[in-house]
Amino acid sequence: MAIVHELSWSTSRARTFDSCRRKYYHDYYLSWLGWGRNADPERRKAYLLKKMTRMPMFAGDVVHRAIAEYYARRDQGQTWGADDAIQWAVTELRRGYKESRDGGWKAKPAKSVRLAEHHYHEARIDEPSGEAAKYGKRYVDRITECLRTFFGAPELAQCRDVQPGDWLACEEMSTFELFDTKIFAVPDFAFVDRQATADAGGATAVQIIDWKTGAPRDADRFQLEVYAFYAKEHWGVDPLRTTAVDVYLGDGSLVEVHVTEDVLQRALATIEASLNEMKAVHFDADASKGDPAAFPMVPESEAARTCSSCGYREMCDRV
Ligand code: SF4
Repeated sequence: MAIVHELSWSTSRARTFDSCRRKYYHDYYLSWLGWGRNADPERRKAYLLKKMTRMPMFAGDVVHRAIAEYYARRDQGQTWGADDAIQWAVTELRRGYKESRDGGWKAKPAKSVRLAEHHYHEARIDEPSGEAAKYGKRYVDRITECLRTFFGAPELAQCRDVQPGDWLACEEMSTFELFDTKIFAVPDFAFVDRQATADAGGATAVQIIDWKTGAPRDADRFQLEVYAFYAKEHWGVDPLRTTAVDVYLGDGSLVEVHVTEDVLQRALATIEASLNEMKAVHFDADASKGDPAAFPMVPESEAARTCSSCGYREMCDRV
């Protein structure tokens, strides 16, 4: 069945929409259909740039995959501790770095690591000067710190030890519907909280966990609130029986959202407003590439802050 271009919503899509409309256009419209080797050159270029990542994101992804690997191995009855996970993750980080640097990503761009730092020849990735080694060490240290927290923090014992039969989700992308629109969500980990369920006389209580490898952001809390709707749609859990937690693995801090009726109504209103803004500029990217002018770039005055880490710099002439 052919994939059809349609408007969908996710918290990351909403963040991109708010940070730069042109980036939003490149991510969700111009890059559409760019996956074919014989695609329209402009669509293909946008698609390849969209598939790039940066070291902070790549390192975060490696930590997420290491934690998912821990759960997969536990499910198979294997023991996999902090040292095993760190070794696995650092090896994966180095493999991805080399794949990007040596051009190995070209064979399968959608499934490979291509770093914007290499594409744009950034000074921080310069090897002869030693800058690349310093930069890489920063992320080896971050990965190590995050995984030591996951395996060692007493506050995370419940997450680590929960029985496989109580797991509900682990890094799986799913969708649900709100306002007749597909909403994408990828909870990092979710499980039935047996103790809270028993305390409530048997009404199922669920915990949804988001692993964070960077610093806290204002948008983090909103993302947790969206998961409460996900829990209702996917597992039929009363959103008010859902606790969503951001775990900042860098320093071990936890931020919990206890869902209330007010929280739900506020989140719903925010999603609706965001969707309405997106609908106002939506067009069918199967039929045309649209008008980029309808999606303005961030002003020059904000370029240093917003464009310096964006993968589309060459398309916007902001290299
Ligand atoms: S380079 Fe700047 S203007 Fe262009 S898409 Fe990226 S953030 Fe937006």
